[in-house]
Amino acid sequence: MSTENSLQFALEPHPGPTPADQIASSLENPVFGRVFTDHMVTIRWTDGRGWHDARVEARRPFQIDPACAVLHYAQEIFEGMKAYRGEGGKISLFRPLENARRFRASAARMSMADLPEATFLQAVEALVDIDRAWIPGSQGSLYLRPFMFASENFLGVRASAEFIFCVIACPVGPYFKPGKSAVTVWVSDQYTRAASGGTGAAKCGGNYAASLIAQTEAAAKGCDQVVFLDAAEHRWIEELGGMNVFFVMDDGSLRTPPLKGTILPGITRASIIELARHEGIAVNETPYDFASWRADAASGRVRETFACGTAAVVTAIGQVRHAGGEFTIGNGGEGEVTQRLRALLTGIQRGSIADPFGWVHHVA
Ligand SMILES: *Cc1c(COP(=O)(O)O)cnc(C)c1O
Repeated sequence: MSTENSLQFALEPHPGPTPADQIASSLENPVFGRVFTDHMVTIRWTDGRGWHDARVEARRPFQIDPACAVLHYAQEIFEGMKAYRGEGGKISLFRPLENARRFRASAARMSMADLPEATFLQAVEALVDIDRAWIPGSQGSLYLRPFMFASENFLGVRASAEFIFCVIACPVGPYFKPGKSAVTVWVSDQYTRAASGGTGAAKCGGNYAASLIAQTEAAAKGCDQVVFLDAAEHRWIEELGGMNVFFVMDDGSLRTPPLKGTILPGITRASIIELARHEGIAVNETPYDFASWRADAASGRVRETFACGTAAVVTAIGQVRHAGGEFTIGNGGEGEVTQRLRALLTGIQRGSIADPFGWVHHVA
């Protein structure tokens, strides 16, 4: 084991943590990403010294110099994962080492420091442990946001020689409005998310910055999310702004666009593929073009379409709007296969269904 795997975290608990009754009211109906727990974990990296100064401390603002590299060249990556409170109060994470691995891959693509998987997991577990009172029961969860940014004060264009890794957390309820069984999506014909050779497979803030204009356009069209087509031909369906996409075909099989560097390799996507195959459902990672989707929705060859990701888990797409009009998938609501896969996945994540895959990671 490298010495980096045994970093010691200095523990400086919040001097005045949020009282239990206030936490309880925050957990009642949390809006995604607005309410945060009391603590954060930070670790610093400097060229020549490596990872150091690991702390679990009260959540507070960073002091950032106006010349801080991330403010100019957007050298930043992040992860999104959840902690669940299961039966008997048991706390668990879902496939956290997959997030740690993807974080390393994103860092490599963005010329950032390599954080060992064990350290990533240690940091996440340390925050979950100290802020465990903030993990909602029932349908809620604690959303964890590990991220890293270039912190060197330097305007030259090259990879930063200093980075800060941080983990923050916020309690969350259902991602979309309750009672909503399917979302409406906007297919962007003008904007694309990622091109071959670009950063589409890295979970970096820059990808999101570039996608916001399409998300704004989607909202203006009365849609919840954007579907991006490929950058080369504006023809092939890639993914949503922050979720992967699956199609349920009339022969019962699933179809999802293949990972070729422009699509973010979702852990939910990978889990759905394994879960579906385990259930005897065939899964094809095959390109699918927008015109076919539209024709197949009309003919009934496509029965259901759903999006998936950590934040929204599995969400049916009921209505599709595009520059040329609009079409409905199935009956416009959540289909049977979508419902079943969602129930299985959330059941495994929450510990109410046995986990035959070894995906659930218990936090002591
Ligand atoms: C995070 C993300 C996903 C979903 O990944 P999960 O690991 O399933 O949460 C999909 N697409 C994009 C662009 C993302 O950033």
